[in-house]
Amino acid sequence: MTKPALHLSTDEDGILTMAIDVPGQSMNVITPQLVADLAAALTRLKTEDGLKGAILTSAKSNGFMAGADLKNMTSLFDPGPDDSETDGRSKMARLFDAVYEINSLLRQLETCGKPIAAAVNGLALGGGLEFVLACHHRIVADNPSIKLGLPEVMVGIMPGAGGTQRLPRLMGVQPALLYLLQGKTMSPQEALGFGVVQELAPAEELLSRAKAWVKANPEGGVQPWDTKSFKFPGGVGAFNPGFVQTFMGASAMTMKATNRNLNGPPAILSAVYEGSQLPMDTALRVESKYFATLVADPQAYNMVRSLFISKQAAEKGARRPEGIPKAPIKKLAMLGAGLMGAGIAMVAAQAGIEVVLLDTTQEAAEKGKAYTADRLAKRKTDPAKAEAILARIHPTINYDDLKGADLVIEAVFESREIKANVTKAAETVLGPDVIFGSNTSTLPITGLAQAWTKPENFIGIHFFSPVDKMPLVEIIRGEKTGPAAIAKAMDFVAAIRKTPILVNDSRGFYTSRCFATYITEGLLLLAEGTGPALIENAGKHMGMPVGPLAVNDEVGLDLSLKVQNQTRADLGDAYVETPADKIIEKMNDLDRKGRKNGKGFYTYDTPKHLWSDLTSITGDLAATQPHPDAVKERLIYRQLVECARCFEEGVVETPQDADLGAIFGWGFMPHTGGPMSHMDTLGIANIVAILDRLTAEHGPRFTPPKLLRDMAKNHQKFYTP
Ligand code: NAD
Repeated sequence: MTKPALHLSTDEDGILTMAIDVPGQSMNVITPQLVADLAAALTRLKTEDGLKGAILTSAKSNGFMAGADLKNMTSLFDPGPDDSETDGRSKMARLFDAVYEINSLLRQLETCGKPIAAAVNGLALGGGLEFVLACHHRIVADNPSIKLGLPEVMVGIMPGAGGTQRLPRLMGVQPALLYLLQGKTMSPQEALGFGVVQELAPAEELLSRAKAWVKANPEGGVQPWDTKSFKFPGGVGAFNPGFVQTFMGASAMTMKATNRNLNGPPAILSAVYEGSQLPMDTALRVESKYFATLVADPQAYNMVRSLFISKQAAEKGARRPEGIPKAPIKKLAMLGAGLMGAGIAMVAAQAGIEVVLLDTTQEAAEKGKAYTADRLAKRKTDPAKAEAILARIHPTINYDDLKGADLVIEAVFESREIKANVTKAAETVLGPDVIFGSNTSTLPITGLAQAWTKPENFIGIHFFSPVDKMPLVEIIRGEKTGPAAIAKAMDFVAAIRKTPILVNDSRGFYTSRCFATYITEGLLLLAEGTGPALIENAGKHMGMPVGPLAVNDEVGLDLSLKVQNQTRADLGDAYVETPADKIIEKMNDLDRKGRKNGKGFYTYDTPKHLWSDLTSITGDLAATQPHPDAVKERLIYRQLVECARCFEEGVVETPQDADLGAIFGWGFMPHTGGPMSHMDTLGIANIVAILDRLTAEHGPRFTPPKLLRDMAKNHQKFYTP
């Protein structure tokens, strides 16, 4: 017999307790079984006279409910062909029915005529909070770390179980939009202040308080919005000035923030605008209509897949080699206490790992530790907690202090010689069985591994700056790197709660190599006389966090010059000079290094603005400027073709790694789900045709690799359906 998802029990007062305990899931999520169990329980509640009311709670101690089971939503994303022969109904009609099912069930819950109280013992997100909102009385454990919210917008969808209708009716349209459009969570205290919940209670009193409410309120089974006297907080309607102004402001702000790239926010705005002026039954159908429209667009599936499913799988070790037991990392040997070393030391110490932070002088090592103190103070970390974190960082110049470390990470200067020296010095103390990770950004791992006697224990662990903020870590397998090193690197990344991708050794690895194409294409456009504002705006409008010139300023134009010179030296005759190189050289000649010295392509006065004399080094602007779409096309396709090449060469091995690395490594247009998802969605044959045209117009950097041509011919995609 299958285990139920809802445990039912009745007490002597006729109160039915419905405790959610979805089998096979560590955290409650909405499954078809839960929906069926709840429907059956509601039928009992409605029809059995002895039942006076109910409590909806969670039988799992780690929270109430995390929402929809996104992993199992794929059937929604693919509801079959249009006008299927079986029922003659359109795909959209079937999709609507599927998404309306839960809306209709929760509507039955709130209109069943008997009082139902929610007793919320922990996190209630997405569908979890929507279950709570449908109950007549809501009591939450008085614990400020509990998160309540509707974060669907962050993965490309919207609340679809009444959240866009009940939240505004409880807290007013304006504050509700803030939470719906930004996916922000609220604490129980905030929820109480907004009237979203009615009571906070110590965790152990939740059930007794819920029962007391049900007992005291036999007539409490009616939602305020189903009564004649209901007044929408703040008022609604096309003739209500506050309501109209809210939507004018929210629409404009949303369009600015999303550059019209995301489908979710406009759908939320429309559902709230229309639904809040309608009776609840119709309002819920309006919400389901927008939800179905969203789900029918590939954007939702691409975003859910990359931002949620692939991300979670990577964090749970999808790419970790099998059969290697996990061993907690207790002590990290961190070589180099500069910007990166200090950041890595901080995240490790925060994860409870002891860190020996080694540099060439005690002063430099101490400065590395001070970085953590400074960041913790800026974040207003609880002093006792901060002290405990700092106590785990041990600055030193003495290699003997590394003894006992179970992982070494090196972040000294980007020089083969210095890196080889510190590698050998660490091995003298630790022996070659310990795993050694290099945080190099450009030097091939296979070469660096020669300094460690057992190259199978040498690996690239590439962090992004600032380490404490950036979510991705690129793990690089050198030619001889073995599975134990990969497993250890993955375990470290898991301990510091970041997202790993696994790639193979190559110049610039995966992320730096593809990311550089965005910058270089921007520079080439500039060299052709394209207006810098046009280039920058095109970058932002297509969904990159900033334009290519701004990004180059952040990276540092001096660093760009170093990489350029190193690549030229390494490649020799094979190096292809471009006008982009000249721009970087001239900018450095003028000591314009980027944000770090307050002058680059931008001038960093307040407000930051494009350097007005940029044409002094790039030449006059072209008399005819390209169409913005043409600029966007070049900036996008130059990245896409490089990602495809990395895939062909085996630098990235899975579309999941490629998409995660792109979105979380260099901010590649998250609404597309990443470059591989984007190519699949646009169709590989279309991609090849556009790349062929761009090659004819702009040169071989756009030439599609054979892999893409073959895929187009065979109607293949990067992701297997
Ligand atoms: P940094 O100059 O801020 O720090 C380097 C530190 O290494 C300095 O404190 C220096 O004193 C120390 N050092 C130099 N020689 C040493 C030795 N022999 N023994 C011990 N310590 C020594 O540089 P960074 O930005 O932290 O970069 C460090 C490494 O990380 C480089 O390989 C770089 O390519 C890589 N990286 C940097 C970034 C970035 O954005 N800055 C991103 C990813 C990777």
